[in-house]
Amino acid sequence: MIKATEKENIIDQAFRDSVGTIDQQGKRKYIFPKKPKGSLYNKRTIASVVYLIVFFSLPLIKVHGEPLIMLNILKRKFILFGQIFGPQDFFIFALGMITFIVFIILFTVVFGRVFCGWACPQTIFMEMVFRKIEYWIDGDFNKQQQLKVMPWNGFKIRKRALKIIVFYLISFLIANYFMAYLISMDEVMRYVHEGIAAHSGTFFALIVFTSIFFFVYYWFREQVCIVVCPYGRLQGVLLDKNSIVVAYDYLRGEPRGKKSTADKTVGDCIDCKACVRVCPTGIDIRNGTQLECINCTACIDACDEIMDNLGRPKKLIKYASENNIVKKQKLKITARTKAYSVVLLIILSALVALLVTRDDVDVTILRTPGMVYQKMPGGYIGNLYSARMFNKTHEDINIKLSIASQEGEIEIIGAPPVVGKENYAVVVFLIKKKATLITKRNSTILIQVQPKGQPSITKKTSFIGPVSF
Ligand code: SF4
Ligand code: SF4
Repeated sequence: MIKATEKENIIDQAFRDSVGTIDQQGKRKYIFPKKPKGSLYNKRTIASVVYLIVFFSLPLIKVHGEPLIMLNILKRKFILFGQIFGPQDFFIFALGMITFIVFIILFTVVFGRVFCGWACPQTIFMEMVFRKIEYWIDGDFNKQQQLKVMPWNGFKIRKRALKIIVFYLISFLIANYFMAYLISMDEVMRYVHEGIAAHSGTFFALIVFTSIFFFVYYWFREQVCIVVCPYGRLQGVLLDKNSIVVAYDYLRGEPRGKKSTADKTVGDCIDCKACVRVCPTGIDIRNGTQLECINCTACIDACDEIMDNLGRPKKLIKYASENNIVKKQKLKITARTKAYSVVLLIILSALVALLVTRDDVDVTILRTPGMVYQKMPGGYIGNLYSARMFNKTHEDINIKLSIASQEGEIEIIGAPPVVGKENYAVVVFLIKKKATLITKRNSTILIQVQPKGQPSITKKTSFIGPVSF
């Protein structure tokens, strides 16, 4: 057993000078993690199955004939759980993103990188889909290492070909679903039925997405978490001594080394490196929290098995905070956590208020640019306007326009306005005002927009005319 203050002296700090997956020459060190097993791995497998069912089911679910979720950036149409959002709702999206980021920060301050290990799509697909398939095709880590150094022969070619084909097909499936989240599954199926020739551009995009997924899962792998993902790089500022992370109980484990049960001069870690062999990012968790750690818990399971075999208590590596290890302190709600919670509550309330009060029809009214007023028969002055409307409902809506202040008349140019479901419409109309009622060159006018069966919306615009007519 050591004291907390001795940690820095006992643990070699050289690991901080380099990234575990890059060698002295700056080349990629390919990781061959041992196949994990244990109770946490089983729980993660169950969680991943649920996750994958949800991921592959969501694009198939429809509400009122529309997808439950669609993020069509090109058409600027977004559907979230049946609710339609247009570009006008950008501020709701922005606030939603801010809420999500604050939530993630709060969650990370308290629970560390639990998200990375249990819910991040990169980890789920890498560790629970592609890695499992790799173990099935190539065998465990030692067989994979042998295969890598083996000269090319029929056996190696068969293994590599099978892995490439299976990985590419799954990448193709993911790319199709990715597309379905963007443009809806109905559109994807329509493209499939109409053939590649009719949609060569989309097909090209699909192949690009597939190739990116294939590259990531076949070769790039843990580098996504280590060098690409901004969330991983934020850990240094988000974690503190009260954050719960996958941690090695160095007070119990050090000084490491072989010992008999009666030997009190060394700690419980027998330096077997089982925890290092299973790590998919190639680090030694005994060095302390590192940005490479994705909290996958494989090292907890590996060490638990060793401790079990030695007849010692489990959880030498466990979910714990630094204060939990050193001071035996339970989860503590710090001032930082409270502050983040308050901010999150405020933003969340604002978001809910915006969502609850948002109109089903968005209306923007503009006086036609470049036009002044028109003198009209009967002593009227007219101004020309256009109203751009977006119907966020699943039914066509008839719209009635009127002047709220009763000081003029509206004359629609063309047919009475109807905005198609989930669609835009532009209505051009004139506002006529008796010249004798005009007292200012530029006055404000209120227009009542009445979608049938919906609460009315009042819009403000300007009306110009001659004062001394
Ligand atoms: S240190 Fe442990 S929890 Fe972290 S990535 Fe490696 S095996 Fe997973
Ligand atoms: S698995 Fe446990 S006992 Fe073995 S090296 Fe890792 S921490 Fe030490």
